[in-house]
Amino acid sequence: MRGLDSLQRIGVVGAGTMGHGIAQVAATHGYEVVVRDIERGFVDRGLDAIEDSLDRFVGKDEITDAEAAAVRERISGTTDLRDLSDADFVVEAVIEDMSVKREVFGDLDGIVDDDVVLATNTSTLSITSIAAATNRPEQVVGLHFMNPVPLMEGVEVVRGEKTAANAIDLAHGLAESLEKTTWESDDKPGFVVNRVLMPWLNEGIRAYDEGVATKADMDRGLKLGTNVPMGPLELADHIGLDVVLDASETLHEEYGDRYQPAYLLKRKVEAGDLGKKTGRGFYEYE
Ligand code: NAD
Repeated sequence: MRGLDSLQRIGVVGAGTMGHGIAQVAATHGYEVVVRDIERGFVDRGLDAIEDSLDRFVGKDEITDAEAAAVRERISGTTDLRDLSDADFVVEAVIEDMSVKREVFGDLDGIVDDDVVLATNTSTLSITSIAAATNRPEQVVGLHFMNPVPLMEGVEVVRGEKTAANAIDLAHGLAESLEKTTWESDDKPGFVVNRVLMPWLNEGIRAYDEGVATKADMDRGLKLGTNVPMGPLELADHIGLDVVLDASETLHEEYGDRYQPAYLLKRKVEAGDLGKKTGRGFYEYE
């Protein structure tokens, strides 16, 4: 079994919103990182986003130019999953689709050493089902980072039906080595955070759609009324409306009517208005 001290090289699968953030934070804390996406363009977009984020940290004097350069040096991008073969720990952050995640885990299982822990950043999907796509279900764990990864302190560690204690401990240890604070959840859809967050977002969208308030007032009301940093429309845009819809649909399937996604959320996703990442969601972005 690998302990925290032996982790040097972290594999990240998916270079999107979460994958590039996880890669950046791991490299910032001294790990060698290899990040894989399916097309070179997606890999480069992830690496560019890391570059922009590092520039902002340098601009705010939170890190030096030399530190940013060292972080960059530690990250490499690839489209070939086999480049993760010498990873000591892998975090998967591909789209929230069970069949895609199971395929990735099946492939990873044949590529990385047998004692390597494979973690999934899934927001809502069953860790147990993802783990069952491998021959090492004991070494599969949920490691649910929050968005944006470099700024958000919390990480949820999720115990699948067969996850072994060493994998749970290693997941906590790795997150803590990235200066994150962890909590643990059982493998129930949505875990701690999204089980409660998704209905909150959908109710905010529904209330706006029903004309309760303008979008600005919906967000202002929830922000000032409940002391959270973002209201539901702003936060949904920030997460990605497709990600919110996928998560809501999983919860709806699992728990029934009380988790029905809002109609307006579906319409926005159908229109391709996915929030900040496409320049338009409930709000418009430069
Ligand atoms: P995203 O759409 O920004 O990125 C997903 C990336 O995965 C894309 O670049 C896509 O090309 C890539 N991909 C798809 N199939 C792949 C494969 N087989 N191999 C490698 N890469 C592949 O999505 P995201 O927001 O980064 O979400 C990733 C995961 O993290 C999801 O499970 C999501 O539920 C979870 N999550 C998202 C947030 C959030 O706020 N966005 C927060 C916590 C967890």
